Amino acid sequence: MTIIDGKKISEEIQSEIADEVQKIKSSGGKTPHLAAILVGNDGASETYVGGKVKACEKVGFKSTLVRLPDTTSEKDLLKKISELNNDKDIDGFIVQLPLPKNISERKVIEAIAPEKDVDGFHPSNVGRMALSLPTYLPATPYGILQLIERYKIETAGKHCVVIGRSHIVGSPMSILMVRNTYPGNCTVTITHSKTKNLKEICLTADILIAALGKAEFLTADYVKQGAVVIDVGITRVKSDKTKTGWKLLGDVKYDEVAPKCSFITPVPGGVGPMTITSLLMNTLKASRREIY
Ligand code: NAP
Repeated sequence: MTIIDGKKISEEIQSEIADEVQKIKSSGGKTPHLAAILVGNDGASETYVGGKVKACEKVGFKSTLVRLPDTTSEKDLLKKISELNNDKDIDGFIVQLPLPKNISERKVIEAIAPEKDVDGFHPSNVGRMALSLPTYLPATPYGILQLIERYKIETAGKHCVVIGRSHIVGSPMSILMVRNTYPGNCTVTITHSKTKNLKEICLTADILIAALGKAEFLTADYVKQGAVVIDVGITRVKSDKTKTGWKLLGDVKYDEVAPKCSFITPVPGGVGPMTITSLLMNTLKASRREIY
C-alpha cells in the first residue's frame, strides 16, 4: 500500500512553478498576477484566501487581495469584477465563495471573464472541460489528477466510482476521469445521496473518489482489495488529543481502509494541499495566455 503524499507533490509542483517564474522574470517577462476578492470576514474564507496569497508570494507571483465589506451589494461586486476583467496587469482572479446571501453566486461566476477565471467555474470553462478542450480545471479535481499522474496510477479501463456530484468536486471529477486521455479513460459511475446500493457499487471500484463530506463514512466493507482510494472530504471534529482541540477527518475510515488499498490519500496531507497548487498552475497558464 502506498500513501499518496499530497504535501510532498504540492511542494514539488510549487518549486517547479517558482523556477518557471524566475525564468520569466529574468528574461524580462511580466510577473504572473493573481487577484482575489473577499466579501465580508468569514473566518474560514479569510484562512483560505490568506493561504492563497501566501502561496503566491512563495512562488514569486504578484497577488492582490480586494476586501469588500459584507454589506456589499451585488451591483457593487459586479462592478469590481468588471474592473478586474479590464485590468491588464491581472492575469487571473477568483471570488472567494461562499458569498453573502444577497448576492447570486451564479451571476458573479458568469460575470468573470472566462480567460481570467482561474477557479474554472465559469460555464464556458466547464463546457470546455466537458469537450476536452484546453481550459482552467477546477482546483480540487485538477489536484487529484496531478496526484494520480505523479504516482503513475493506471486509469485506462478502470472502474472509477465518484461519491458526490457537487459542481466543485464530484461532477467535474467524473467528467475528467472519463475523458479520452491520461489520467482518464475510466468507466465512471457517479453517485450521490439518492443512489441505491452504494456499497455494492463501491465494491466494484478500482478507483474510489469520496467527496461527500461525511466524516469516516467509507468503511472497509465498501472497498475492494487493491483499490485506489482518494479521500476529498474534510470535516473538522472536536478532539481532546490535539493542542487546538480540533482535528480533521476525511470521508474514509482510514485505519481500516488503508490496509486494503494499493494507493490511498490521507487526511490531512493528501488532496487538501493540492488545491492551492492547482490555482497557482492555472494562474501560470493564464499569464502565459496558454488557453485563451
Ligand atoms: P457538497 O456540495 O456538500 O456535496 C456533497 C455530495 O455528496 C452531494 O452530491 C451529495 O449528494 C453527496 N452525498 C451526501 N451524502 C451522501 C451519502 N450518504 N451517500 C452518497 N452521496 C452522498 O460537498 P463538496 O463541496 O463537494 O465537498 C465534499 C467534501 O470535500 C467536503 O468534506 C469538503 O469539505 C471537502 N472538500 C475538500 C477540498 C480539498 O481541498 N481537499 C476541496 C473541496 C471540498 P446530493 O447531491 O444528492 O445532495
